[in-house]
Amino acid sequence: MTNQQRSGACHGWRGDLAAYLVGALDPQECAAVRSHLGSCPACQAEYEDLAVVVGCLTLLSRAPRPSGQCPRPK
Ligand SMILES: [Zn+2]
Repeated sequence: MTNQQRSGACHGWRGDLAAYLVGALDPQECAAVRSHLGSCPACQAEYEDLAVVVGCLTLLSRAPRPSGQCPRPK
C-alpha cells in the first residue's frame, strides 16, 4: 500500500509559492522562489496545483460584482 503525501512542497515555501503566484512578492523574493522551483520538484508540483486555484479565483474576481462590495485596492 502506498502512502503518498498529498503535498510534498517544502513547508517554508508554501506561503511564498502562493504569494509568488498572485504577484505579491518583491523582485528579490520572486527570484528566490523561482530558483527554488527550479531545484525542487515537490514545490514545482505544488506551484502547478496552486496555479490552477489562483487561475479560478482570478476568473471569479473578474466577474461583475454587485455594488456595495469593497473597492479593489489599486
Ligand atoms: Zn521545495
